[in-house]
Amino acid sequence: MFGLIGHLTNLEHAHAKAHELGYLEESEQGLDLWCAAPPQVVDHITVTSATGQKIEGKYVESFFLPEMLSQRRIKTAIRKILNAMACAQKEHLDITALGGFSSIIFENFNLSANKQVRNVELDFSRFTTGNTHTAYIICRQVEQYAATLGIKLSEATVAVCGATGDIGSAVCRWLDRKTDVQDLLLIARNQERLNNLQTELGRGKILGLEEALPLADIVVWVASMPQGVDISAIPLKNPCLLIDGGYPKNLDTKLAQEGVSVLKGGIVEHSLDIDWKIMEIVEMDVPGRQFFACFAEAMLLEFEQWHTNFSWGRNQITVEKMEQIGAASVKHGFQPLLTV
Ligand code: NDP
Repeated sequence: MFGLIGHLTNLEHAHAKAHELGYLEESEQGLDLWCAAPPQVVDHITVTSATGQKIEGKYVESFFLPEMLSQRRIKTAIRKILNAMACAQKEHLDITALGGFSSIIFENFNLSANKQVRNVELDFSRFTTGNTHTAYIICRQVEQYAATLGIKLSEATVAVCGATGDIGSAVCRWLDRKTDVQDLLLIARNQERLNNLQTELGRGKILGLEEALPLADIVVWVASMPQGVDISAIPLKNPCLLIDGGYPKNLDTKLAQEGVSVLKGGIVEHSLDIDWKIMEIVEMDVPGRQFFACFAEAMLLEFEQWHTNFSWGRNQITVEKMEQIGAASVKHGFQPLLTV
């Protein structure tokens, strides 16, 4: 059985959902209530592959909210993720994806040193970040949607915001090795990591956001930001493809420049309806079929019985592993989302 560990977008979203579900008192409470809530299994899921194979899974809500990072409640954020992992393990889930910020908190705060959660000794081989499949899906979105807009990769400049991250660096590796993309622009804050990536790739220009965006035909946004940024003052090319792969969404979707297409990045669409309720909560256009590629990775590992932490650690995603998970993704009927 597979598992998914998820969280809501922000406190406002949490209030709205609590209100919709009839928890009127909870819908008016501040962050403290969410800080105190223990993790819970809130959905039972059945997925049918395009091959006809069926698998079962559970969704664990961690009750983490991104405001816990910005309001200096780091200890609470860490507790939320570890408790959700312990909950998944107590439920005997064989492979569980750490969705959204869960894997970022795990890595950034070195939680591999915290194996013991009360009476549960965490077995990290039962968890995956899902980042290999996410990076694969984003690359396929670049390749396929650029063609729809008439953007030729051989003449295109691609800016990757969050280039030195786990997903961003994998996207750069794929674009470098598997496509004939003309130019790569690398954006992040830490200069040393940018230099290391540039050395590894043997190409790519390191630029700031405001310099890079006006030059880009395609922007892949995979920075880990707790809140969206407004880039409406930066002039973009026409046409320009913006792939927003962050969760919560990194870009202000009010962006209304002519010729700019914004595609939700790292989202898959399954060829068959999935039996679950949870994706209605995260507001997908087609909740029965569309969801995060990292969650799909746990499903793929369960379909293939690859019960291992397929994506783990930071900046270790190879093009070969992206090809491997990509082949499983196609086989089981997952496609990159291609509707803006
Ligand atoms: P990482 O923490 O590994 O990398 C984040 C990257 O963003 C780094 O390059 C970091 O570099 C950069 N960054 C952070 N803040 C800023 C900033 N203010 N300006 C410019 N660059 C910045 O994250 P992941 O690769 O694991 O995840 C990236 C995003 O993808 C996250 O939003 C995550 O939630 C989302 N995600 C989506 C999934 C899906 O299924 N769709 C699955 C998993 C993750 P530096 O700190 O040097 O600036």
